[in-house]
This record gives sequence, C-alpha cells and structure tokens, in this order.
Amino acid sequence: MVHLTEVQVGVLPLKRFAKVIGREQMREALKTGAKLRRRLAGRVVWNVNSTAVGGGVAELLQSLLCYARSVGIDARWVVIRGQLEFFKITKRLHHALHGATGDGTELGERERQIYEETLRENTLEMASLVRPGDIVLLHDPQTAALAPELVRAGALVIWRCHIGYDASNEETERGWAFLAPYLEDVPAFVFSRSAYVPEYCDHGKTTIIEPSIDAFSPKNQELPEAAVHTILVQTGLVDGPPPSPPNPSFTREDGSPGRVTRRADVIRLGRAPSWDTPLIVQVSRWDPLKDPIGVMRGFAAWMQGDSKGSAELLLAGPEVSGVTDDPEGAIIFAQVEKAWRELPDAVRDRIHLVSLPTADVAENAAIVNALQRHATVVVQKSLREGFGLTVTEAMWKSRPLLASAVGGIQEQIEDGVSGILLKDPTNVEEFSHGLSRLLGDASYARRLGEAARERVRERYLGVRHLLAYARLIEALDR
Ligand code: UDP
Repeated sequence: MVHLTEVQVGVLPLKRFAKVIGREQMREALKTGAKLRRRLAGRVVWNVNSTAVGGGVAELLQSLLCYARSVGIDARWVVIRGQLEFFKITKRLHHALHGATGDGTELGERERQIYEETLRENTLEMASLVRPGDIVLLHDPQTAALAPELVRAGALVIWRCHIGYDASNEETERGWAFLAPYLEDVPAFVFSRSAYVPEYCDHGKTTIIEPSIDAFSPKNQELPEAAVHTILVQTGLVDGPPPSPPNPSFTREDGSPGRVTRRADVIRLGRAPSWDTPLIVQVSRWDPLKDPIGVMRGFAAWMQGDSKGSAELLLAGPEVSGVTDDPEGAIIFAQVEKAWRELPDAVRDRIHLVSLPTADVAENAAIVNALQRHATVVVQKSLREGFGLTVTEAMWKSRPLLASAVGGIQEQIEDGVSGILLKDPTNVEEFSHGLSRLLGDASYARRLGEAARERVRERYLGVRHLLAYARLIEALDR
C-alpha cells in the first residue's frame, strides 16, 4: 500500500474482563460477540483514522480491535497518509468542531481542494481493499471524504466523530459546512455525547457511544509502587539513585515483558522532584485547548495562596515529533516553554515541562501510567474536550481529579463525588481553590478517588464499548 498503512492488530482475550465486570456480564458479552461473528461470516470491520500513535482515537483502537479479534471478528485498522498542509487543515477543522478558532486560517475552496486531493488517493486504495458488505468505521474529520466512494462500493459506512461542542457558534458552523457534503449518504453516525450531534447529521441515524479504556493495557494495568518508582527514576521524572535492576518492567498488551529504557526530555530549573514531593500532573497533547499555560498560571495562583504547600507541577505530553496528525504540537510547546521562562524563578523552580518518548508506544504508555499513579492530584484544565480519556485513566487509578466542566468530562465526573469540576476553566482562583482542597484534605481526596474508580468500572471499560458497537452493527446490517 502506498498511501494507507495497515496497523498490525494483535489478539487479546476479551475473557479477562471477567475479573472486573463479573462472570454474568462476561457471559452476555461473549454471547453477543459470537452472534456478531456468525452474522458477519468473514466480512471485515475496517477502522480508518489518521494516526497510529498519540491522542484518544489511537488509544481506543489499539485495544478494542484486539479484543474484537479474540471473539473471531476480523477487525482491522488502517491509517491514511497526508502531508503537513492536509493536517493543518484537519487540525483547523478539529478546532472548528470544538467551537474554537485555532490558527484562524480559512476553510475555503483552496483548503477543500487540498483536503479532497489528499483523501482521493487514500480513497482509491481503500476502495480496492473493501468488499461489498464490509463494515467501515471512519474516525473523525480527517477521514470524512472517504465516505461517499466507500458507500458506493457497497460497504456499510459508519462515521464516528470523537469531538464536538455543546453549543453552536460561527466556528462550528464553518466546520460542519465544510464536512457536510461528504456525509450526505452516510447511513450511520456515532458521537460520544448527544450534545455534539449537529443538524448536519440526521439525528435518526445517530447513535451515542461513550469511549472507554482498557484496564489491562500498559497505560492502565496495575503497577506495584516499586515499579512506579523505578519507571519514574529511570525516565528522570523523579530524583533518586538509578533503579536496580536498571530497566523497570511492565507487561505489553500481548503479555510479553516490556522495558522502560528511554529518558524523558525535561525542561526544569533544578532537580527532579523527590519521591515524597506531592505532584500535580496534567498529561496531554500540546494543544491550546488543553490550556497548559493556564495550568501554570493556576499553579502560580495556588502557590501564592498556599505558601506552606510543597507540591510541584508536572506538565507532560508527547515529544512534539511523535504525533504525525497534530502539526500544532511544536508551536504550542514553544509557547508553553516561553511562558514558563517568563515566570518568576520561585514558581518556575517547581514546574517541570516533560516531553515523553514516543518511539515505543507501550513504553510511552507505561510512563504515563506510572505518572498518573504517582500524582497526588491529576488536573485536566481543558477549555474544550471531546471526551477526555486522560480523565478516565486517572479515575481508574483512583486519583483525585480537578478537571474542567467541559465536553465529556461532565459525563465522567460527578462534581464533589468522583472528582472536582471547574465550572469556569479560565478562572485561576477556582483552580487554585480546588487544588488547596484536594492537597489539604487527604481523606476527601481518597473518597473522590475511590468513587472515580467505581464509576469507570460501571461505565467506561472497553467491553461495554464493544457491546455497543455490536448492537449498532446488528441493527444496521439488515
Ligand atoms: N497520551 C499519551 N502520551 C502522552 C500524552 C497523551 O499516551 O504523552 C494519551 C493519553 O494517555 C490519552 C490520550 O493520549 O489516552 C489522549 O486522549 P484524550 O481523550 O484525553 O485527548 P485527545 O488527545 O484525544 O484530545
């Protein structure tokens, strides 16, 4: 294949969810899986997106497809190819659907031409792979223009949009008007929240499916405290003597042992925090909508108000060359670094800007896992958020969360029960107050964390997600 890249998908036993959801629910899930396998009888379930690494969609596909394969569904994953110019346009579209301006560039005829040209090549290749009756799940705006040709080729096309905005404004209108022509003949849409469904998508053809996490992946698997410690020392995120044995281990998706060998690239003034230093952690792509600069300002406000507090802030994201469909990363990282340099030394001294290695996806995930588990408080101060898998991940690890009441975060956290919601994400006082609450009252923080884990067990594990897809395919494939 010249344009498309097929991502190798392994097989993971769906059965292992029995440990977390119980045998009864597991039996139901296996029955549904077997029924779908008989119905599809060898037809392929294709998933198409624009990156194999980085961001929530890649995270979802990495594990869901492996579990689907374990019950005999021929689930496959292909990634489209595009140039920088294409991804600048799709990132602009991403901002627009979030109701934001992004870099403020046009979404006009020139952009449409580039978008269509890039996808034309990908479509031709995809059409040669797909057979009538195959199911094709297209993910996000990057893939929308593949739909018309694949519908014509006789595939059952489902377009899944992982982003959106609760209201409509000039930007959402611009974004949806750009995409609408490609969606006319699509028989089914999936959104993560009903508030995201625009008038451009026929509500009668729309299903709501919330995202999920894989409790057993390197990102979320249980890690003993000793492993957390050694991973963080090995990567240079926590101060201490070199770990022994030297390279700490985790378990890869396929059960084989993995090793964390790379170090993170860290911008800081002094040393790494000690193991005992309370850490406030946000893990996100370098994206203005994740508001990394606002997190630093909120932290500075908290330092001013709580002079005895010793917590430090760690902002972590992928190294900027690591996420191919997000050309904005390098620019935003440079802005974050500049804002950091402008802070007073006393504040800067307690803020660590971390670029995580991405060469090995599982290693990257293990580092994120260790960081989230070690965090005293996890923050997600997003200005917009599709769903917010980083929130789900931290909830599963029983972390107390301080997160904005935007997008899917509002479904996940019940304010004051399974985390604290920031009503106004731009209000640094509210942020600072929330931090004081969580850092100052350990038993309150523990209660929130425990409730958070339960909520994920009930609603956000991958097995439920797969069941929802199975029901949808069954309903459409008549
Ligand atoms: N992520 C990661 N490494 C990083 C930064 C982020 O693996 O350095 C992961 C994070 O753990 C989460 C996903 O990327 O699984 C981000 O998904 P989310 O829904 O939070 O936001 P998105 O990036 O899709 O806007």
